[in-house]
Amino acid sequence: MPEGDTVWRTAARLNEALAGREIVECDLRWPDISTVDLTGRTTLEVVSRGKHVLHRVEGGLTLHSHLRMEGQWRVEATEGLASRWRRNPQLRALVGAPDWTALGLRLGMLDLVPTAREADVVGHLGPDVLGSDWDLTRAVDNVAGSHVPIGQALLDQRNLAGVGTMWCAETLFLERVPPWTPADKLGRERVERVVARAHRLIDNGRRNAVQSSTGSYRLDEAHYVHARSGRPCRRCGTTVRVAMIGEPTRERTMFYCPGCQGGLGPTDDGRPQAPLGSSRGAARSRRSY
Ligand SMILES: [Zn+2]
Repeated sequence: MPEGDTVWRTAARLNEALAGREIVECDLRWPDISTVDLTGRTTLEVVSRGKHVLHRVEGGLTLHSHLRMEGQWRVEATEGLASRWRRNPQLRALVGAPDWTALGLRLGMLDLVPTAREADVVGHLGPDVLGSDWDLTRAVDNVAGSHVPIGQALLDQRNLAGVGTMWCAETLFLERVPPWTPADKLGRERVERVVARAHRLIDNGRRNAVQSSTGSYRLDEAHYVHARSGRPCRRCGTTVRVAMIGEPTRERTMFYCPGCQGGLGPTDDGRPQAPLGSSRGAARSRRSY
């Protein structure tokens, strides 16, 4: 699932391509709004809120989308836009301006709401890590008051908005926190360090094409634990592992180092795990993402 910084960069790119321009083509392939036509209206701005994209158009309307697991917004030149895009069965939204056209593929959610009522779709979110109104104290209050594992609390967008599985894992590794420790047992100071670290990593991520926690921007060196199960920890050499965290049916993957982060997690069976990307790890890899 995309992280908050990925969604922020997506919204920034859409804003650059569309803001201030008239919509000249509109095709929303989604139940309930498939007959809506936004052509003739001007895009006012496109912003992100947590992992949600809010595309505000003239006339008080907001096209709201969420990328969920595999969605993306692409921007292509309008002139000569290949017809294969319009035929693409994964296309859920096409919003075209004279110069650039935004293509929403495999979107997890798409709806149209009055701009004045955006709170209906994003009002449940906690402080936005990349929002102008980022509120560290409130985010720490939310997480520190949570009875669930810290890894689960960080991923809960109602506590703070924008942390996905990658930044969650990297943050907890850097702070040497066992992901399954109940958040309310960590102590407020430690929770504050964790939340502040997540904020720094994501804030840095929005400025770089490669999301890095290690300081290296080479793709194979950018992370400590995320997607590195079966490989040695860069810090202590223990084999990095992956296990599930969270409520059944809403579980997420958690990569961690048992050596640096307090031993095997309670949901980890301890069986050998092949590195992701190797032939033995391939099936696991698909499931893990
Ligand atoms: Zn380690």
